[in-house]
Amino acid sequence: MNLDFKGKKALVRVDFNVPLDKKTLAITDDTRMRAALPTINTILENGGSVILMSHFDRPLKKLKEDGSIDVERFTLRHLVAHLSDLLSRPVQFANDCLGAEAVEKAKNLQAGEVLLLENTRFYKGEEKGDAEMAQKLATLGDIYVNDAFGTAHRAHASTTTVAQFFDKDHKTFGFLMQAEVDNADRVLNNPEKPFTAIVGGAKVSDKILILERLIDSVDNLIIGGGMAYTFFKAMGGQIGNSLCEADRLDHALALIEKAKSKGVTILLPTDSLVADKFDAEANTQVTPSDNIPDGWMGLDIGSEAIATFSETVKASKTILWNGPMGVFEIPKFAVGTKEIALAVAAATTEGAFSLVGGGDSVAAVTQMGLEKSVSFVSTGGGAMLEFLEGKELPGIAAIKA
Ligand code: AMP
Repeated sequence: MNLDFKGKKALVRVDFNVPLDKKTLAITDDTRMRAALPTINTILENGGSVILMSHFDRPLKKLKEDGSIDVERFTLRHLVAHLSDLLSRPVQFANDCLGAEAVEKAKNLQAGEVLLLENTRFYKGEEKGDAEMAQKLATLGDIYVNDAFGTAHRAHASTTTVAQFFDKDHKTFGFLMQAEVDNADRVLNNPEKPFTAIVGGAKVSDKILILERLIDSVDNLIIGGGMAYTFFKAMGGQIGNSLCEADRLDHALALIEKAKSKGVTILLPTDSLVADKFDAEANTQVTPSDNIPDGWMGLDIGSEAIATFSETVKASKTILWNGPMGVFEIPKFAVGTKEIALAVAAATTEGAFSLVGGGDSVAAVTQMGLEKSVSFVSTGGGAMLEFLEGKELPGIAAIKA
């Protein structure tokens, strides 16, 4: 955001894909809109004007019976009044992100004014990364700003292709996107040691790329959640009815070997809270994770695992957390995730840098009200997951090109 916006029209890609109440179409959570405010306000304060573009849901996948777009349901017009309140100034709206109205309104925009364009996903070209669409969008602004990290892993017209039409001095990340990139970069490429990654969640197959990538840089790799049982099974343990990906056993063993050869300590939960069914009313007991009776399944880490994991977390200087330690949606099986969240928060208070990102661990930390107790909570979801896997995200590459 080091560009001079004075007298310039900034074309800003935001992520205003906010949840709406199905009946009243009122905004139920405006976090994403609030997250874009620093970028928008800074441009306005520096004498620029702002043209906002965003996608909203997937209108072309949810057409009306007659095959037309359900404009009423997917229009961004619903956001205008609230955005205007948040910015304390009027917000203009163009009924189409392309075409004469958008061009006219963008042309007439004065310093300090804000224009919101209609949903970019009303056009097929958006998700295809269509160059013609991107070029038309590009003509609306003098500077392109991408502040939509949540879609940075998609090579769409308004997130990636559009950037081709601006030279290096006329495109930049917004504050939100910059923070995501800087924090992930700090963890992946410049971690203060010891560096501990905590990976949980349901499936090994979803996390295999992250695990592979992390083994190259971490000192400790904590593996919890449903995915841990595939590792126990691979090592010859009895896991009862716990989650297991039979086609990933070799992969699990290979990861353990790779960790050994790199001097990385893998920590698996030595004990588990096991249940006789996947239900809040289930009977439970604590057993060793490699000796779970038939008919029982591991749904959370046990107290011994909580103690070992917490000790390692608290002794770390950099912590990355992705994925819950158990079925945290059910309070009975949320203790492990909660305790690990508290350990991450405690380590952060002691000076560690902690990043929580990519999927359900963010929900867990937010539910526990601990989002302010960790260093950074990513809003990126799938984008953060791909970033942590070491992939180059097209939306990021396009700004750097
Ligand atoms: P992910 O989206 O990969 O982070 O996975 C999150 C999901 O994994 C949550 O819905 C959890 O309920 C689920 N999960 C975590 N631990 C277990 C477990 N031991 N057994 C079954 N599901 C689990």
